[in-house]
Amino acid sequence: MLTDAPPRKSNLAAFRESERIKTLDLPHDGHLQGIAKSIESAMTTGTGADVRRACKEFLEQTSEFYSVPACGIRVLAARPLRVRENWATELFGDYHPETMLIRLWMRTAVRKEVTSFGTFLSTLCHEFCHHLDFKQFGFTDSWHTRGFYERAAVLYHYARGTPPKKLFWVALPGGRWRIDWPTTNRGA
Ligand SMILES: [Zn+2]
Repeated sequence: MLTDAPPRKSNLAAFRESERIKTLDLPHDGHLQGIAKSIESAMTTGTGADVRRACKEFLEQTSEFYSVPACGIRVLAARPLRVRENWATELFGDYHPETMLIRLWMRTAVRKEVTSFGTFLSTLCHEFCHHLDFKQFGFTDSWHTRGFYERAAVLYHYARGTPPKKLFWVALPGGRWRIDWPTTNRGA
């Protein structure tokens, strides 16, 4: 994971705020864990429509909890050949702020590798956090800041029922950061 470079002056304050907010409120009812499990079983034994239905339920729950409009979801078998590369395109999904649509795909474009459940859920949480940036925090853009990745990780670990990890970062030239996975995974 690599952060975006800080933007020009007019957006810098919002970028810094995105960087500063490192956590999200979380529900306490455990519904999301149950829905995440149904995404997992749909990926193993169900159809694409089953996966989509479970993701839709996940997004309805999270949108209701955070009091934001529900976003649309499309689950594709493979990464589309043409993906708008302007921003917010991850390896396994994207989000478009104008249409509030999340798209996830279950296979990579080139090697056709199947997405693991962990990566799929993590991408769903990541794309939903783009949605929150616009609709809850009111940012004019949704940057990949350290705070953004921390928020997405908080939501992911909650939904997966795994303990959150402290993320360790390494500074790069140009004000960017990359995650230090060995240290993060060691939990040092
Ligand atoms: Zn993104």
